[in-house]
Amino acid sequence: MLVYGKQLREEMKEGIKQQAAQLPIKLAIVKIGDDKASQAYVNSLVNFGQEVGIPVVTVCLEKHITQAEAEQAIRELNQDPDITGIMVQKPLPGHINDNTLIQTVDYHKDVEGLHYYNLGRLLANDPGVCPSTPKAIMTMLKANKVDLTGKKVTIVGRSTIVGSPLAVMMTAQHATVTLCHSRTRNLEQETRAADIVVAAVGKPWFITADMVSEGCIIMDAGINVDESGSIRGDVHPKAAARASIASAVPGGIGVITVAELFDNLLILASQPSRN
Ligand code: NDP
Repeated sequence: MLVYGKQLREEMKEGIKQQAAQLPIKLAIVKIGDDKASQAYVNSLVNFGQEVGIPVVTVCLEKHITQAEAEQAIRELNQDPDITGIMVQKPLPGHINDNTLIQTVDYHKDVEGLHYYNLGRLLANDPGVCPSTPKAIMTMLKANKVDLTGKKVTIVGRSTIVGSPLAVMMTAQHATVTLCHSRTRNLEQETRAADIVVAAVGKPWFITADMVSEGCIIMDAGINVDESGSIRGDVHPKAAARASIASAVPGGIGVITVAELFDNLLILASQPSRN
């Protein structure tokens, strides 16, 4: 059965709207260069912000800006008392060091949950702001009444934004997690043995039907845009068809991720230590 995120997103939207009305909140997105796909994501954040009554400002920096200039732009947002959260939109130009730039964001304004402070809190099982895609996957599982206790989970993809924090979150919920990557041997063996397979690879239809067991649960974080502009997940439709629950692409994890980012903004706005 394919499951979608739209209704969950609408429910979250209502909650965010009500809470946002009580707090002064503003999101800043830092974008470097003119990547079209990333502009589409920025637009979806601006639209969501309008729907929930949260202003979103986009700070557009030209693609040849130096690392020092980009870091200075972030420091200025750190100092701006009107800005609640700062998001650094990827991809960044090749000469910019992504991680150094992200660590320049004041952790009180780290809406993506990627600052070492927030990642450390996650590891210590005292989470504050967590990366929004893994949060969306946890929300989707919970909404479908999936209890992770004792479940065998195989996550394919170990990035700091999706796979690695998700492994920590799921372990905290008592799952037994295998975190796979490009050097994993016998990947099919790991995915076939899993009750729950999470795909965060970035390769269209990478998980095929023979890689999953009948009746498993599949969460597909993949968003791959083909030449014609169509979006494909990391999981082949025939693999999804074997699952008892499989998240749709498009319309699954991605649509909840946007709402989770705004949920993070509310967490930041309610933290007492801000400014
Ligand atoms: P990354 O490129 O940062 O990470 C990809 C991961 O997949 C790496 O850990 C890599 O291994 C692993 N991998 C690559 N090839 C193989 C292979 N042949 N076998 C096993 N593992 C492999 O991607 P992201 O985590 O940023 O994104 C993953 C997907 O999720 C993308 O489709 C992206 O668009 C999507 N995404 C979706 C979001 C949403 O809102 N739904 C948000 C963010 C991302 P290694 O570490 O060894 O290189």
